[in-house]
Amino acid sequence: MNTHYDLIIVGAGAGGGTLARYLAPTGKRILMLERGPWLPRELDNWSTQAVVIQRKYETKEVWKDKDGRPVNSNQHYNVGGNTKFWGAALFRFRERDFHSHPTKDGMTQEWPLKYDVFEPYYTQVEKLFDVHGIRGEDPTAPPMSEDYPFEPIEHEPRVQEIHDDLKARGHHPFHLPVAIRRDDRNPHLSACIRCNTCDGFPCLVHAKADAEMNAVRPAITYPNVTLMTEARVLKILTNPSGRAVTGVQAQLRDGVQTFTGDVVVVSCGAINSARLLLMSTNDKHPRGLGNNSSDQVGRNYMYHLLGWMLAITGKTHATSFEKTLGLNDFYWGEPDYPYPMGNIQNTGRVNAEMMKAMLGKPLAGMTFEQMAERSTNWWFMTEDLPDPNNRITLDGDTLRISYTENNREPFDRLLARWTELLEGMQFVDQVVKVSQYISNKVPVSGVAHQCGTVRFGADPKTSVLDLNCKAHDLDNLYVVDSSFYPSSAALNPTHTLMANALRVGDHLLERMKVYRPTMDVLLQATRAPSPGSQAARRQPVSV
Ligand SMILES: Cc1cc2nc3c(=O)[nH]c(=O)nc-3n(C[C@H](O)[C@H](O)[C@H](O)COP(=O)(O)OP(=O)(O)OC[C@H]3O[C@@H](n4cnc5c(N)ncnc54)[C@H](O)[C@@H]3O)c2cc1C
Ligand code: SF4
Repeated sequence: MNTHYDLIIVGAGAGGGTLARYLAPTGKRILMLERGPWLPRELDNWSTQAVVIQRKYETKEVWKDKDGRPVNSNQHYNVGGNTKFWGAALFRFRERDFHSHPTKDGMTQEWPLKYDVFEPYYTQVEKLFDVHGIRGEDPTAPPMSEDYPFEPIEHEPRVQEIHDDLKARGHHPFHLPVAIRRDDRNPHLSACIRCNTCDGFPCLVHAKADAEMNAVRPAITYPNVTLMTEARVLKILTNPSGRAVTGVQAQLRDGVQTFTGDVVVVSCGAINSARLLLMSTNDKHPRGLGNNSSDQVGRNYMYHLLGWMLAITGKTHATSFEKTLGLNDFYWGEPDYPYPMGNIQNTGRVNAEMMKAMLGKPLAGMTFEQMAERSTNWWFMTEDLPDPNNRITLDGDTLRISYTENNREPFDRLLARWTELLEGMQFVDQVVKVSQYISNKVPVSGVAHQCGTVRFGADPKTSVLDLNCKAHDLDNLYVVDSSFYPSSAALNPTHTLMANALRVGDHLLERMKVYRPTMDVLLQATRAPSPGSQAARRQPVSV
């Protein structure tokens, strides 16, 4: 078997999948190696018992925290990576997020490239990932050269009431930009059925625009792109001088195999990309690849201060798809508090079974069912700051996440402010005499928003990657997941990393001396059929 490729991509998730889709029309020989299998399509995809309680699709790997305690993370290894489970909220970072600015716990890290560089790529991602939204509603949003390609997802009545109440009080709620294939005007034609098991669950009807559906499947319709599943890369190999990578060693079902490539792109997620670079030691790179000049691989791990809230008021409602509303009015602080506080958005629907799993006991005088039919459910996100001691390291074969929280005050303030706003909308009934707000912060095992472990920058002493996301220390090793982030902002992370994957894609086109594919060509493969059929793999279908 010829195992030499023009490009090897490690990891078929958001970053790797997006890059593969972008480069597929070039005709270059591309190999994607994915550690996990295809996620099975089965009734359990929408089962709370299977997904939330048994955690059926999460890794069984046990990591350690800084004190050596076990970490059972919500990391998923499958084609599409963590996006198979995402809430599909695709936010552009704000212009100021790319500039160093004060937060309660210090200045944020300056990005070496600014919003204007990412803008055209954000626009492309919105097309490739079917994003619904509306330009101009969110006053903090950066300028957009084009509106979202699809109309916003409509609020259901209870969420619309909250929206209207906030507006009446002078706030600026907006429709969340979400990547799902929903047509609210023609529900009978819509792939998405607005179910109540979206955020945190895979989509049984394949209507979420995740990295499997909108990136990997379209990419493998091209005959020059090969995807190998259950192929875990164990090590990246270099030439004797240590200046260039030559390929990778991967654990397949039937043994270890070496694949060689002209260029290797790592996109295993911020935790696993750092892990793979650290595992790839040799005599020229004794601390792992990309680490000689900077000693930065694995450092500056961030995952946001993330919190959830169940707001239980005396108003029953039958909302199904809840994740449609966002509020950024406190993103940069408030008049008497000059520090960024962050973003508020709906989570998916929380049903009685989930509440039982989360809380153990219902609130006094209520059943879980009564709580669930009266709740609206919220997510909070505050920026955490890069700290070199917050890092991914290897403890033998075990991965360790050392993390000490920072910037907590604005997070607590954001939660308090949102509680006050909801309290202004008090509803009571026979069951709920006083509204209840139950909230908690996501612990270190909640790695959904992982980023920052292989940061990019101009200076090889303080960054691992250069501005093209190529390792400073190596001629042909790139990283395209969220590990390149110098700072985490306070918005869902994936839009920026996918935009960056396209940006790096443009650099690779130049490097490989091939033409840039047009958006028409890229969109041709959007609705790629199932990978089960060989014919499907060879023939792009039109939309
Ligand atoms: C429940 C949940 C909800 C989320 N909601 C949102 C949201 O609403 N909006 C948003 O922007 N983000 C959301 N996210 C985050 C989003 O999923 C991630 O930001 C995104 O998937 C990161 O992309 P990535 O390419 O870095 O990693 P991934 O998409 O996770 O892909 C990495 C891939 O690499 C593979 N891999 C790892 N190690 C190896 C190896 N050694 N060899 C081969 N393959 C390997 C993995 O199996 C995986 O498929 C959510 C995440 C979760 C878990
Ligand atoms: S809400 Fe739509 S996209 Fe989300 S899981 Fe349900 S059907 Fe799929």
